[in-house]
Amino acid sequence: MPSRPRKLRLLWLQGVTCNGNSHAFLNLPWLDALLERFDIMYHPLLPSLYSLEAVAACDMTCDVLVFEGAFAPGLRRGEKGLGALLEHYAQQASYVVAAGSCASFGGMFKDAMPEGSGLAFVHDKPGGPLARQGVINLSGCPVHPEWLGYALMMIADNETIALDALHRPKALYSHLAHDGCLRNEYFEWKVDAKQFGQKEGCLFYEQGCRGPLTHASCNRTLWNEVSSKMRVGTPCFGCTEPDFPRRNLFETKTNMSIPEEVPIGVTKRSYLTLTGIAKSFRVQRLESRLIEDE
Ligand code: SF4
Repeated sequence: MPSRPRKLRLLWLQGVTCNGNSHAFLNLPWLDALLERFDIMYHPLLPSLYSLEAVAACDMTCDVLVFEGAFAPGLRRGEKGLGALLEHYAQQASYVVAAGSCASFGGMFKDAMPEGSGLAFVHDKPGGPLARQGVINLSGCPVHPEWLGYALMMIADNETIALDALHRPKALYSHLAHDGCLRNEYFEWKVDAKQFGQKEGCLFYEQGCRGPLTHASCNRTLWNEVSSKMRVGTPCFGCTEPDFPRRNLFETKTNMSIPEEVPIGVTKRSYLTLTGIAKSFRVQRLESRLIEDE
C-alpha cells in the first residue's frame, strides 16, 4: 500500500493582536477539511500538538508559519524574544503567511506603536523582521477566512501562488471591493444612501465607502457565504490596503463637493464628466426606495 504523504506542520504565532484573524478563521465553513491537511503544532484557539512554551524552546521546525498581529521588537514569548522565535521558524519554513492587516503592514497598531511593523512591510514599504523573506500577505481586518483557506490549500497542494507588488495573492486582491457590490446600479446613477445602514443607495459619496479604491474580493467571495459589509449597509473602509486605518473612516473627503480620491484607474476628469452626465438623467425607478419604507 502506498504510504500517505506527510502532513505539513503548521505553526500559528501572534504579535500584538485582538485575535480577530484567529476568530475569523474559525468561521471558515470548510475548516475541518482544511485542518485534515495539516498538523497544527500550535494555534491559540485550536487543538494543538504543543504548548506555546514548547514552541518557544525552538528545538523543532515547521513547514508553514502563520503570523497574526503586528510585530514589535520588545515582545517575548516564553523564554524567547518574538523576533528570535520568528527568525528560527521562518528560516526553516517553506511558507510564511501574514494573516491580517497588522501582520501584513502594521495595521491597527502602527500609530500607537511607532516601532511596530508588519512581518515584511511597514505600510507599503519593505521593513519588519522578515523583510528579506518571501512572505505571503493576506491583508484584511480581519483576513477573510476563505482567503486564508485558499492560500493554505494552495500550499498544501504545492501550487504556485502569484503575488502582487504588496505580496498579496493576485487571485484574491486584483479586483476591487466595488466589483460585485449589489449597489453598483446606484453608483452608476449617483444615487446615494442618505443614512448609515440603508439597504438601498450607494455608500461612496455620503458614507465614505472605499470599495472603488480597495483591492479585495469581499463581494466576489461573500463572508460566511452570505454577505459583505456593503450588503448590510456598512461602507467598505479599505481594510486590505497598507494605509488602513485611515482617519474618519466613514467620510469621503471632498473639495468643493468633488471627491478628493476617485475610483482606481479613472482620471478625475473622466469621473467628473461621467458623474455630470449621470446626474443629468432622472432615473425614476431609483428616486424612491424600492423595498424599504421611507
Ligand atoms: S457601496 Fe461602495 S462598493 Fe458598493 S457600489 Fe457604492 S461605492 Fe461601490
